Amino acid sequence: MQKTTTKLADGRELIYFDAEESADRAYTDLRPLEATTALSEVRRDPVTGDHVTVAAHRQGRIYHPPADECPLCPSRDDRLSEIPAPDYEVVVFENRFPSLALGAAAEVEADLTPLRELKPGVGRCEVVCFTADHEASFADLSESRARLVLDAWTDRTAELSALPGVEQVYCFENRGAEIGVTLAHSHGQIYAFPFVTPRTVRMLARAEEHRAATGRNLFEDVLAAELADPVRVVLRGEHWTAFVPFAARWPYEVHLYPNRRVADLTELTEPERAEFPGIYLELLRRFDRLFDGSAPTPYIAAWHQAPARHRTEAALHLELFTIRRTVGKLKFLAGVESGMDAFINDVSPESAAHRLREVAT
Ligand SMILES: [Zn+2]
Repeated sequence: MQKTTTKLADGRELIYFDAEESADRAYTDLRPLEATTALSEVRRDPVTGDHVTVAAHRQGRIYHPPADECPLCPSRDDRLSEIPAPDYEVVVFENRFPSLALGAAAEVEADLTPLRELKPGVGRCEVVCFTADHEASFADLSESRARLVLDAWTDRTAELSALPGVEQVYCFENRGAEIGVTLAHSHGQIYAFPFVTPRTVRMLARAEEHRAATGRNLFEDVLAAELADPVRVVLRGEHWTAFVPFAARWPYEVHLYPNRRVADLTELTEPERAEFPGIYLELLRRFDRLFDGSAPTPYIAAWHQAPARHRTEAALHLELFTIRRTVGKLKFLAGVESGMDAFINDVSPESAAHRLREVAT
């Protein structure tokens, strides 16, 4: 793999990831761009203990541009985009309208007053472009391209984890306008958070309780239990297992674990990395076949990785889910879910797993 780091006109970093070592990436961003300032704050909810990022400076961001103004297509002729090269394989760059930025430290003052705890939103938000093809989805990628994306996620996890103040690195993809995606060009994002995310806090607390009660790791026990009674197992590889969780919150939800527990992407071995693309692409393609012939399935793919300072009980895994319940119907987070964090799922996890096996390639 070849990694080429460059700067955009406003000083943001852009990194090309290429499978071949010979790619020419000596292109300059010719746009007249002014540097933006991030005024993000991270506030701690005194009642729940959750962190909330307040990024009021993001209101001016690009919203559903026409295809000929796509900022994620390569720069061709006189149409200049975020990517200066006329073609690319995988590209990662700093978001122009980040929720979190290292520069926030200079703009926002920390305040540790009880009940009013506030810190600058220090961190980083990156965009990951999986392909130069405006029309292609992740599911359309070749295995070798999906592997290059895995390598880029891994590289970013290692680098962002080392930044001062970063507590957790989160790689994810939102797919589909139904999820709130504002750019049609297939892409993912990476957030380097200055705190441990609320869901991870809860999962690690459960893992510690499980350790105290049984002496064992929670995630290892969950995976072993699913394999022992594989009614919810969707796909099994030599190194990875995908299953619908026992208490799935979403109509179709799959958790993909490496069979050997690791803390984050940087700890995967070569055989584990080599098997991942085939398994993940198959899961995405099955998602697109769930609702026969209707529009592409909207989904969220979320990598759970160990926080920088709580690594012993955590388990790298990917959570993939759709908010679509059935053809033409979405699951909305309404009063019960949004008001109380209490999910009601209209599809049984066992029948979801059956359906996900039924639509195998
Ligand atoms: Zn595009």
